[in-house]
Amino acid sequence: MEPLYIQPLLEIREYLRLAFEPSADQHAVEERLDRYITEVIEGLYGAPRVTTDTALGRLSLLQQEEAVPGSVLHPEAYMSRLIREVVPHSINTSSPNFIGHMTSALPMFFRPLSRLLTALNQNVVKVETSKSFTVLERQALAFMHHQVYGCNESFYAEHGQHPESTLGMMTSGGTVSNLTALWIARNAALLSPETDVKRDGYALALHKNGYRRGVILGSSLMHYSIDKAADILGLGSDGVIRIGCDSRGRIDLSKLAKEIAACRERGDRVLAIVGIAGTTESGAIDPLQELARMARAERIHFHVDAAWGGPLLLSDAHAHKLRGIEWADTVTIDGHKQMYLPMGTGLLLLKDPLAAALIEKKAQYIIRGGSADLGRRSLEGSRPAMSVFLHAGLHLLGREGYGYLLDEGIRKTRWMADLLAGHHAFELIGEPEINILTYRYIPAALREAVRNGTLTPEEHNRINRFNERLQEVQGRQGESFVSRTTLSGIEGLPESIVVLRVILANPLTTEEHIKNILDLQQTIAEELELSFS
Ligand SMILES: *Cc1c(COP(=O)(O)O)cnc(C)c1O
Repeated sequence: MEPLYIQPLLEIREYLRLAFEPSADQHAVEERLDRYITEVIEGLYGAPRVTTDTALGRLSLLQQEEAVPGSVLHPEAYMSRLIREVVPHSINTSSPNFIGHMTSALPMFFRPLSRLLTALNQNVVKVETSKSFTVLERQALAFMHHQVYGCNESFYAEHGQHPESTLGMMTSGGTVSNLTALWIARNAALLSPETDVKRDGYALALHKNGYRRGVILGSSLMHYSIDKAADILGLGSDGVIRIGCDSRGRIDLSKLAKEIAACRERGDRVLAIVGIAGTTESGAIDPLQELARMARAERIHFHVDAAWGGPLLLSDAHAHKLRGIEWADTVTIDGHKQMYLPMGTGLLLLKDPLAAALIEKKAQYIIRGGSADLGRRSLEGSRPAMSVFLHAGLHLLGREGYGYLLDEGIRKTRWMADLLAGHHAFELIGEPEINILTYRYIPAALREAVRNGTLTPEEHNRINRFNERLQEVQGRQGESFVSRTTLSGIEGLPESIVVLRVILANPLTTEEHIKNILDLQQTIAEELELSFS
């Protein structure tokens, strides 16, 4: 890479003119920066290494500075520093050997698109700062609503662009989508002729309705964003009731039915039942049809957290796994996970186009009643037009492209599961439902006991500690990455079992990469075994 020519510092007025006013000089600097960044991307994107072997604690980087700089740095000098000091130690999420998290390579076309988005700097909080992008966002959301709920043409003709209808919302991610869904659920559950949470507040609304408290029910594998939502909405951690799972990581329906009855007896109002479509831990999918039926019978809001699994609807081969999602009142989908959109793209879809009125707000100076402003009914205020990425993804990848990507990930996961099932040193934990797989390494001395099912609790803990060490060492080396989690509350498994976790979503990851990663783990493990007791 050719070094950047660093210009001598300009006087501040001249410098700001260069920054803001279009000119030949500005154009030249921008072009040099773009070329530089393009080269960096070419060197990094899809490269095999995940990161350097420098530990986080040893990265001093920009910390050497103590205060806001008094004078400016030329943009080329700054960029060059960022790229030399920070970028190499970041995580290469596009690496084919980075198979431990829900973040992966992105299609090329989002890079120029993100440049356009920054240049246009739209704010979709209101029409006055986004105009056509408000229309585009509504259209992208209508596409996704149709994918989930499949309403007819006249429904979308009526509600797609109608200012009083809300088919969905773009959010910064699954956390805010889940919070918004439960916010709507809470306000709906407590709305009565006597009270309205929006006016009376949560405590008084509960009291006027004669409830002791409000609770959310879901499986033990619910994402921790549900706990955040419960805290913010006033439910507290005791307001989230986690039900045990069957051996496939799906909520136990009979335990759920018992809990619903117990809630009724205690005077607890169930504000929502949460079904998970693709648990973060293992990709399990709750029985959505049965959950929907139970929720409907009890007149309880049914929310589906499909942050990870939602895009399976775009696969002809796997969409059936989500059957029942069309009965959900609200559905969370993360665009920045399996839709391969840039980070910061979340969605919440609403079955009832008028449900968002339950959280609607007005402000005289900005959000007037009756306006088409998207900010009236969303938690977030000012926000970028991330819906452009969604709209683009749906056109540039479409059902055909998404279907292929999803099917391939699931196919490779099956391949890896079969490899592990026949492996002498690894133990596959649970059968993968989609493209998340959990397994562990068994030290040679304990293999016999695992095979015979005679592991003592102490030996089980030793295997847990061993897998923690293995995952740490592999991560520290920086060549590849597999994550780790602790499973609990699953029928047939010990109460707390440490597993290695692989997510196969990156299309750059091949069977060869997977095999090499397992070989590497085995090498690390055999070395550890020499010193491990
Ligand atoms: C990732 C995830 C979330 C949280 O989404 P963010 O985009 O990280 O806020 C919630 N639920 C599930 C099932 C997830 O996989």
